[in-house]
Amino acid sequence: MTGGLNLLREQYDNLSACIRCGLCLSVCPTYQVSFKEEEGPRGRIAMLKALVEGHLNLTSDLLEHELNCLVCEACTAICPAGYRMEPAQIAFRADIRDAAPWPVRFGLDYFLGNLGRLRRLVRLLALGQRAWLVSLASRTGLVDVLGLRRLTRFLPDLPTTFIVPRGQVWRPAAGPVRYRVALLTGCVMSTVFAGVTRATIRVLTANGCEVVAPAGQGCCGALHLHGGLFDSGLRLVENNVRAFNPDEFDAIIVNSAGCGTALKTYDHYAGSPRAAALARKTRDVTEFLDEIGLKPPAGEVPVTATYQDACHLAHAQRITAAPRRLLRAIPGLRLVEMAEPALCCGSAGVYNVTRPGFADALMRRKARNILATRAEMVITANPGCYLQLLAGLREAAGGDRPAVEVRFLVEVLDQAYQAAPQAVFVEVRG
Ligand code: SF4
Ligand code: SF4
Repeated sequence: MTGGLNLLREQYDNLSACIRCGLCLSVCPTYQVSFKEEEGPRGRIAMLKALVEGHLNLTSDLLEHELNCLVCEACTAICPAGYRMEPAQIAFRADIRDAAPWPVRFGLDYFLGNLGRLRRLVRLLALGQRAWLVSLASRTGLVDVLGLRRLTRFLPDLPTTFIVPRGQVWRPAAGPVRYRVALLTGCVMSTVFAGVTRATIRVLTANGCEVVAPAGQGCCGALHLHGGLFDSGLRLVENNVRAFNPDEFDAIIVNSAGCGTALKTYDHYAGSPRAAALARKTRDVTEFLDEIGLKPPAGEVPVTATYQDACHLAHAQRITAAPRRLLRAIPGLRLVEMAEPALCCGSAGVYNVTRPGFADALMRRKARNILATRAEMVITANPGCYLQLLAGLREAAGGDRPAVEVRFLVEVLDQAYQAAPQAVFVEVRG
């Protein structure tokens, strides 16, 4: 720890809210895997509070238990006393500064702080995939020599073209414009998952929205805040507050649950009226489509699918019914529930890189629950979950192809709209 516990001290009232009832133990993923008090919310809160009060020192043991927290917010959602884990963990991690190993901190700052660098990296990896270099490195054992075998499981098919926000405007090809919305294109959603973001634009325009990608926007900063890079996170928050003028839009749309949660708490970090307005107008794309009344897709997606609740949609934003309603509106899609749909899959930002023990245990538990449904597809609304489910289901299948297809919810909606041919948008300014 290089600073004091200044930010954690500010959380003292929050920490004191805990009445030690233990209700949260039933939903905490790390407690459910370990059944240890120190790996549950109540234990973590007690340790943080004792740290602030000076009854405990910051030992490596304490640090380990705190950093094992996924910041999944399941405890926050169920807590009858109003305790909130996310601000406490962000404050603690900011105070200790080295919450994540230095290569992770460097990667977050170097690539997500400058999306030009991220685009070059993703393009390089995509070209490597197309030239079979990634597969060759895997087969020859080079990835083992480099210690990257585990990480290759997470690698999806990468695109070579990205969405670079420059103030583009997309309008419905037919029918009136009902809403004017701004789209957060983000970091991985504009690069690794650029195709999903294009699908998001098509679905929004099909629902009567004019979609704008404000120039100057960037990464939401959530990964930095969770990883202890508080100052970098704050810079990214302030950058987006400058880029989005909430007065110009009916809503700010986000297609990644983790990023949406971050934007909805921007007022806490930036503290300006504009940040507060931005936070108020932010909507997850599933939440927004449900609110405005989804235009029923005419095309069929004949599949049996199960839905994985992203923690930052279900627990942090309390959105569980809207995604299911949207899926049930898709002709041909049969939705089946898995066991523990809202138990964290173990992704949690960079957690699956920094904390492989709990992350893999949760990933395998999630894969078992998905396989037990016999669904052909698992659908989620968050990039971290997507990658973790992909890795878990690849491992379950013992190869590169996952045992069950993994899709984003907007992709499936888009497929349903595309199945009944129609022009859905025109780009009027790019
Ligand atoms: S549910 Fe809330 S009050 Fe009860 S132990 Fe957990 S954090 Fe404390
Ligand atoms: S945020 Fe999640 S992992 Fe952390 S203590 Fe709460 S329930 Fe457990």
